[in-house]
Order: sequence, then structure tokens, then C-alpha cells
Amino acid sequence: MIDWQYNLRQAIRDPVHLLELLELSNLEYSTQGLSLLVPKGYVKRMRKGDPNDPLLRQILPLQAESQQIAKFIHDPVGDLAAEQVPGLLQKYQGRVLWILTTACAIHCRYCFRQHTKFSTSQQQTILASINADPSITEVILSGGDPLILPDNYLNKLINSIAKIPHIKRLRIHTRLPIVLPERINSALLTCLTQTRLQPVMVVHVNHANEIDDSVKQAIQSLITAGITVLNQSVLLRGINDNITALSNLSETLFSVKVLPYYLHLLDRVQGAAHFEVSESEAIELLEQMRIQLPGYLVPKMVREVAGMAYKKPL
Ligand SMILES: *Cc1c(COP(=O)(O)O)cnc(C)c1O
Ligand code: SF4
Repeated sequence: MIDWQYNLRQAIRDPVHLLELLELSNLEYSTQGLSLLVPKGYVKRMRKGDPNDPLLRQILPLQAESQQIAKFIHDPVGDLAAEQVPGLLQKYQGRVLWILTTACAIHCRYCFRQHTKFSTSQQQTILASINADPSITEVILSGGDPLILPDNYLNKLINSIAKIPHIKRLRIHTRLPIVLPERINSALLTCLTQTRLQPVMVVHVNHANEIDDSVKQAIQSLITAGITVLNQSVLLRGINDNITALSNLSETLFSVKVLPYYLHLLDRVQGAAHFEVSESEAIELLEQMRIQLPGYLVPKMVREVAGMAYKKPL
């Protein structure tokens, strides 16, 4: 069996090493801000010698990140204001989002939670808070990446959630099936599917090149286990801001039986301004997708507005 935790420890953290592997030793990078972190299996999907590779661009620290730009702030979506108890966010009716960890297997340069300093309450405190509110029917495990936690930890946690009678669904927001697909092992599949809770997983893919055979296998095993798998993406300048990339993404997702769910406009987080696509360009791309793709392959294009009761459609 492949040891995902070993592979995570072996992930690349040194830009010099990364650029050597990609035969791009002359490319400029920054040593400031969020550190570089990328698993080797994800690097294998990058094109050697291409400084504009859409996977490389998602993880390489650049000088442009240190620019201070008005409106690009630390907590652009108002996460901290939505905390019920530390570590538990409620913005939307019936759903709570549990920040289980701030750790990830990859550091995405545009991550809207990269500066947020969450503290987490004791599990018992969060469970009691969910238990006390019968209007909550869905618990979303998020972070960071919740699947970075060990199987036995997740197993106990999910069993505790399943004991709360008003919870119907368990949702997992994770990028691990994409960036470290060996994480999807049989122990994890069992713990996600053994309770009465209906499991839903929302993965995060921004470009079709992220989906290789290893990802395909991981997703296949999730679906075979009975988990509904949806995808969310971020519209990113230089990565997927053209109709070819977006329609390939939807087509490739569906070829592995994943439905495109959300296409988010970039959250205005400090350091990510160079990734922004304007609202008018975004609307033009959405129109093109509607023309070219079957309706079920057109994701909902949304912007998260702090304080709104749902993610705002464009
Ligand atoms: C995005 C989000 C959700 C989930 O919203 P859906 O529209 O149901 O996908 C829930 N809670 C928080 C805090 C969120 O940011
Ligand atoms: S995996 Fe998700 S939470 Fe982690 S850095 Fe990337 S976007 Fe942020």
C-alpha cells in the first residue's frame, strides 16, 4: 500500500529543487510570504521547460505577491465574523463549516484563507454547538484540508457527528484527491461511508492537466463507495481564464464522473491581485461556456460577498 503520509513528508518545499526538476532553473521566484509546498506527484503533471505551466503558476511564489493593493485584504470573505465558536463558521442556513486544521498538502498562491489565523475549540465544544441547533442539517469539514488528518481521528469525529440526530449530510471540502490521490485509501473510504450520514465531497481542480490516471483512480474509488463528488474552481488569470481551458476542465471532470459545481471569482486576498480576472471578462467567459457546453457542465459562477445569505451568482 502506498503511504500517503510518507509522500506528504517528501513533498517539495524548496523552489530551487522544484525549478531544477522542471528544467527552469533561471525562472524568478520569491522567498517571502506563504512557503512553497507541492507533492511530487503533482509536479509530475507539470510540463518541463514551460514557465507558464498552469499547475506551476498555482504554486510558485512570485515577487508580485508582495505588492500591497487596496481592497486585497487578509480576510476577504468575512470568515472571522462568521465564527459561532472558534473553528466553526456559519454563513448559510442549515450548513456549518468546521475548520478542522489549517494545514494543507499544497500551498495555492491564491488561497483566500492563507492569512486567516483560526483557533479551534475543543471538539466537544463544537459538537455541543452543532447539537444545540436543530436547524443545522449539514456539516462541512474544511480547513486547510481536513483529509490531512489521520483516518482514526476522522473516524471518531465522523461517528460523533453521526450521533447528532438532525445532521443528514457530511460534506468534505478537500484538494487531497487531486494533489495527493494516494490519500484515498480503503480505511478513509470506510470512515466516510459507514455512518448513516450521506457523504458529499467537493474537490478543487482549476485546470484539466491536474487530472491524471492517479486522480482518476482516486475519484473512481470515491464514487464506487457511494460518495457524490463535485468540483469547485477559482477563475485565475494566466491559468484558466480562457474558454478552451474552462471547457476542457468541465469535459475532463465529467469524463471522470465529477460535476462542475462552482467557478468562484477570486476572493480579494492580499498577495493574489495578479490572479484577478475582471467581472466583465468573467461574464463573457460564462456566456461562451453556456454556448459551448451542455447545461450540466456549466458551473455556477459566483462571488462570495461577506454577509450575504448565499454565494452571489453572476
Ligand atoms: C461556501 C460555504 C459553504 C457552502 O455553501 P454551498 O453554497 O452550500 O456550497 C458553507 N459555509 C461557508 C462558511 C462557506 O464559505
Ligand atoms: S488546498 Fe485549499 S485551503 Fe489549501 S492552500 Fe489550496 S486553496 Fe487553500
